[in-house]
Amino acid sequence: MSSTTSRDTRAYRQLIAGEWVAAEGGRTFDDINPYTGQPFATIPASGAADAQRAIDAAAEAFPAWAAMGARERQALFLKAAAILERRADEIVPLMAEETGSASAFSRFQIQWAVGLLRQAAGYPYLPGGEIVQSDTPGVFAMAVRKPLGVVCGISPWNGSVALGFRSIVAPLACGNTVVLKPSEEAPVCAGILMGEVFHEAGFPPGVVNVVTHAPADIGPIADRLFDSPAVRAYNFTGSSATGARLASRAGAKLKRIALELGGYNPMLVLADADLDYSIDTAVFAAFFHQGQICMNTRKILVHRSLYDTFLERFVARAKALQAGDPSDPATKLGPLITEQAVAKVKQGIDEALARGARLLAGGTCRGRCFDPTVLVDVPADAPIHCEEVFGPVVLVEPFDDEQAAVQAANGTAYGLTASIMTADVWRGISLGGQVQAGMVNVNGPTMGGEPQIPFGGVKDSGWARFGRWAIDIFTDLNLVTVSRNKRQYPL
Ligand code: NAD
Repeated sequence: MSSTTSRDTRAYRQLIAGEWVAAEGGRTFDDINPYTGQPFATIPASGAADAQRAIDAAAEAFPAWAAMGARERQALFLKAAAILERRADEIVPLMAEETGSASAFSRFQIQWAVGLLRQAAGYPYLPGGEIVQSDTPGVFAMAVRKPLGVVCGISPWNGSVALGFRSIVAPLACGNTVVLKPSEEAPVCAGILMGEVFHEAGFPPGVVNVVTHAPADIGPIADRLFDSPAVRAYNFTGSSATGARLASRAGAKLKRIALELGGYNPMLVLADADLDYSIDTAVFAAFFHQGQICMNTRKILVHRSLYDTFLERFVARAKALQAGDPSDPATKLGPLITEQAVAKVKQGIDEALARGARLLAGGTCRGRCFDPTVLVDVPADAPIHCEEVFGPVVLVEPFDDEQAAVQAANGTAYGLTASIMTADVWRGISLGGQVQAGMVNVNGPTMGGEPQIPFGGVKDSGWARFGRWAIDIFTDLNLVTVSRNKRQYPL
């Protein structure tokens, strides 16, 4: 059992070697509900010894898992998908309690993760390599995909269920065993839940391990995960600052790390765009999940001919949105995840206002519920002009010339996603080609994503790609040759 309930607080355990266990020494920490500010669960506060046990369990389970036949492995992934789907109604309130996610985003994530698992069920039947032409007579050469061994998934808190699964599903489907280290802000929804689903589905002991930790305790766990030669690769989703640090740790040991990082995503509204649809798209893309998604629109660049009307109507829509209790199904926006997150958003706004920006909506909060915020005239020296503030804050700027809009869109170190609204689809595609982003959406929001797409960014947004492209990251490509004849040598 991963949890027991006493009054209103659940006590969770973590999954190591197929057993639900406490942290060594029995230490725990409180998991805080961001809306109430009260603990709703206790979680194992692990240390180095727990991480090592998880690595050892994954290493021991690897040979049998890598050798398991395609039919058996496929059946396990399909079973995991069915379990997750069956549990949807129970997981939605859990996501509200742990991460402040309102029900629309929670249901999207669960459905997304079910799709991810079903698609992963097809991986074992994909071709395992290619025949390569050899110039040597009688030599038959094959490029064969092989799993790496143990892969460590490190998940963020924000898209907890979708990204908890994404941190380990592709590695697992490629035949690796995994240690999942979820965010300390969402140890259940971005970690323990994955363990529960795979455990119930019958994944063999040690194939999936989950190690949770208290906020201040990541150091010794990270040391084990990054220093152990048994861990061959990392699948990291989180902030660019953490990603850069972990990339250098992995690089020091010449290990692979897949990076999915932050974003500062522009939306371009061209002169011929459908204004109503552009406003609907902007409201959704800027404020969904209270602006705590890597793909939220952070800057809206509007052709000057539409600017005043766009702004007036967009601001009215922003003011009409209110954050509240995410466990109420009618609530559209929930709270920010922590007090620090609220302070960071406030700081970003205050720095901009101090430099001359104007606030047209929001800027205020009740507890952690932050009002949708619209800023204009934000000068280039305000950090929020090009840096990700993880909250419901969006900048709106006019442009006269499309090339200037592209330049403004590219004026950030990030490059995750962009959107271009226009009646001329070819113009959208051609301008989109000039925007430095891993994903460009013509007449769609910056936000979205399906499990099979090559999701990922450029520049400081990272470089990993998911969908079938993840196979390149989580396998080795081995050359195998067979000589039909005895070869002739010069010595
Ligand atoms: P974060 O970088 O604070 O944490 C991410 C993970 O890294 C957590 O599990 C955390 O415990 C771990 N971590 C932190 N320091 C570590 C260390 N020294 N060693 C090992 N692990 C460590 O990010 P977050 O606040 O959880 O997530 C929000 C950020 O993630 C935003 O910047 C957002 O844009 C980005 N994000 C990107 C994507 C994407 O697909 N590109 C998706 C979701 C979120």
